[in-house]
Amino acid sequence: MSVAASFVGGQVLLAARAPARAEYAGIVRFLGIQVGKLDVDVRLGVEATASLVLAEGPDSVIVATGAHAYIPPLPGADGKHVVTDRDVLLDVTTAGQRVVVVDDVHTQQGLSTAELLLDSGKRVEVISRLFYAGQDAGVTSIVPLYTRLFTKGVIFSPHTELRAIEGSTVVVANVYSGAARRIEGVDTVVLAMGSRSTDGLYRELKGRVAELYAVGDCVAPRGVHQAILDATRAARQL
Ligand SMILES: Cc1cc2nc3c(=O)[nH]c(=O)nc-3n(C[C@H](O)[C@H](O)[C@H](O)COP(=O)(O)OP(=O)(O)OC[C@H]3O[C@@H](n4cnc5c(N)ncnc54)[C@H](O)[C@@H]3O)c2cc1C
Repeated sequence: MSVAASFVGGQVLLAARAPARAEYAGIVRFLGIQVGKLDVDVRLGVEATASLVLAEGPDSVIVATGAHAYIPPLPGADGKHVVTDRDVLLDVTTAGQRVVVVDDVHTQQGLSTAELLLDSGKRVEVISRLFYAGQDAGVTSIVPLYTRLFTKGVIFSPHTELRAIEGSTVVVANVYSGAARRIEGVDTVVLAMGSRSTDGLYRELKGRVAELYAVGDCVAPRGVHQAILDATRAARQL
């Protein structure tokens, strides 16, 4: 996803593309309507650079540049058939027929991507280092989610970590015994391994504007509640 997005809503709209997650977009719909009622100058498709922001001569700047997907420095992780959960949510056709999803986020994020892939007729194995994938998903979401995933044919491999990607072979290992296993014939590896703050703009603006705030995932990747709370606090200080 380009940083100069043609819509407001960031990761929330991406997450809402997964099955059973459409309501998540309500957050953006509501806030978008509120912004529309107020005199807010929204410029879409524009990358905010430090020089562009400074040229406006602002009294205060709130940076909300979010976070980008994390790709671990593992052998083969730069392969053409290695994509992120965000890539799949944006366009499920980026994935081939046999898919391994690496869940290192432990929330609904990786699992709802797996569900989208299953709905598109893919064979999906989800590996997780934890006792079960999606361990941090809320208890009210995980039961229906697991029900749907098992019904749709998911294969779960818990206490398993990614070691390397060697072409169509994914090398994984048991986190306790270290025993390696080779998953052969994989068309696509989907990394749902969290994100890192997109904080370059904030760093560039530091010391160059009178009042500067960073809010949401660009401070540290967390969740939508924290992003809204950060933003509310910053706005109240202006
Ligand atoms: C698949 C998925 C599922 C998720 N599920 C949940 C969940 O169930 N619950 C939960 O709480 N959280 C969830 N999250 C995380 C949550 O969506 C994020 O924490 C939240 O969206 C962060 O909001 P933000 O506004 O800080 O950043 P973002 O949503 O990342 O928005 C930042 C925006 O800034 C734009 N941008 C960046 N740099 C520039 C620039 N220089 N110029 C112009 N625009 C720029 C980006 O394009 C983007 O539109 C999920 C995330 C993903 C990816």
